[in-house]
This record gives sequence, C-alpha cells and structure tokens, in this order.
Amino acid sequence: MTDTQGTNETIFNKIIRKEIPADIVYEDDLCLAFKDINPQAPIHILLIPKKPIVKLSDADESDSNLLGHLMCVVGVITCQLRIQDAFRLVVNNGADAGQTVFHLHLHILSGRDFSWPPG
Ligand code: 5GP
Repeated sequence: MTDTQGTNETIFNKIIRKEIPADIVYEDDLCLAFKDINPQAPIHILLIPKKPIVKLSDADESDSNLLGHLMCVVGVITCQLRIQDAFRLVVNNGADAGQTVFHLHLHILSGRDFSWPPG
C-alpha cells in the first residue's frame, strides 16, 4: 500500500485530514479515534496514530512513546464511553490476520459478549 512517493496513503489519512467525514470521539496531536463504519459490536471505535505506520509490526523503538500513548488513550476513551470494565482491544496485523486498511489501528469493541478464543 506504499505509493511511488513512499508514503502510505489510506482512507484513514483522509479521515485525519478531514477530507472525508468520520464520527470522531477523540483527537489529540498524536492520534484520532472515530466510530467504525461497519461496527462489529454496539460500540466499535478505531483508534489510529496520526503517523502513518502501516501495521503494528512496522513500529520500532522510536514509536515506543506513541504506542504507549495509544494505550493510555484507550483508557481515556473507554472511561469517556463508560465501558472501561468491559471492552476488547484488537489489532489485525497483516492481510492474513484480517487487516484491510494499512494504517495501524486499534479496534475498541464493547457492548456484547465476546467469545474466546477469538475467531
Ligand atoms: P481491519 O480489517 O483493517 O483491521 O479494520 C479496518 C476497519 O476500518 C474495518 O472495521 C472497517 O469497517 C473500517 N473502515 C474502513 N473504511 C472506513 C471508513 O471510511 N470510515 C470508517 N469510519 N471506518 C472504516
């Protein structure tokens, strides 16, 4: 998903730049969270870094603070939505693991029962 300029342009970049609409629930300098367009649970939020990391396994040591920040923001969002005691956090890493948008994103899912192991 890398173009000839070596950048990773995805639909999520357009959402970050507000070129296409999204139902945003949280934003700061480093990340953005918005409702998934095709929710898999009553609450389904996508949390993305503004830095276009393609997938989690592409992050390196220089991204440590950013990745930690995302985890802290999960706490903020889940408290805001009053789901802090019952949510599932999912990262699909790579096409074979179900990743369809190649800009790192965390799925925050809540509002229904979740089975284990996951499908
Ligand atoms: P993945 O399958 O890559 O882990 O998850 C990508 C997610 O992005 C999917 O759950 C899909 O519904 C969501 N998605 C794809 N395009 C859009 C969009 O334009 N807007 C929003 N809000 N979600 C999207």
